[in-house]
Amino acid sequence: MRLTIKIGSNVLTRQDGSLDVTRMSALVDQIATLRSQGHEIILVSSGAVASGRSELKHIQHDLDSVDQRQLFSAVGQAKLINRYFELFREYGIAVGQVLTTKENFSDTEHRKNQENCMRVMLENNVLPVVNENDTVSVTELMFTDNDELSGLIAQMTQSQVLIILSNIDGIYTGDPSDPSSRIIRTIEQGRSLDEYIQEKKSSAGRGGMQSKSNVAMQTAAAGISVIIANGKRDDILVKLMNDRENTPCTEFLC
Ligand code: GLU
Repeated sequence: MRLTIKIGSNVLTRQDGSLDVTRMSALVDQIATLRSQGHEIILVSSGAVASGRSELKHIQHDLDSVDQRQLFSAVGQAKLINRYFELFREYGIAVGQVLTTKENFSDTEHRKNQENCMRVMLENNVLPVVNENDTVSVTELMFTDNDELSGLIAQMTQSQVLIILSNIDGIYTGDPSDPSSRIIRTIEQGRSLDEYIQEKKSSAGRGGMQSKSNVAMQTAAAGISVIIANGKRDDILVKLMNDRENTPCTEFLC
C-alpha cells in the first residue's frame, strides 16, 4: 500500500518546545517497519517553526509574525531534515526534502512539476519528507496548515491511506477529558461532525480538529481512507496498519 503519513508539530515537540528526538526516532523505526512490510511511504512533517523557535530562544527583540515564521522555519527545517536524514540512514533508507507552496498545486505547469518530483523520488525508493516552504510562502497564499498539504499530497501521489498523527486519539463524541466521551471509530462520507468537533487547538502547529476533519472528509471523498490517530502512542503506525480494530483512532471511510 502507498501511505501518506502526516506528523504534526505537537507530536514532535516536548512541553518546553524543543524537538522530541526520542519520539522522532520511534516514528522513524515504525516507518522503517512499514516499509519492510512492503508499504510505500510519503512523510509530511511539521515541526520546522516549533524547532526553530526553541533553537533561537535567545532572540530578544520583537519580530512580526512573518519574520518569525521565516526565521524560525529556516533554522528549524534544517534541523528537522538533518535529524530525519540521519535516523533513516541507520536503516539504509534515503530521504529527500520536498519544500512546497500552494502555487505548486494549482497552476498546471507547477503541478506537473511537483507531480514529477514525487514520482521520481518514489520510483527511486527515496522517501519524500514534505513540508510547506514556510521561508518564502506568502501569508495570504499559504496552506491552511499541513493537514491540507497532506491531503493534497495523498491525492497527488494516489496514496490508498492518509494517516494524520496529532496528540489526540481521534474525534470524540464530547470533550476528550470527559470520561463519558468516546472515540468515533468510523465516519461514513457525508456525515456531519459539527456537534462533536472540539475547537481547542494544539499549541505548536497551525491546524486543529476542525481542519483535520475537513481535510479528512475531502480526501475520503477522493477515494483515500483517512485515519486520525495519536502520534505519541507507542508503535501507533505499525498497530494502525496491522491491528486497527484494537488501536484507538478515527477512520474516515472512502
Ligand atoms: N509548516 C509548519 C512547520 O513546519 C507547520 C504548519 C502546521 O502547523 O500545520 O512548522
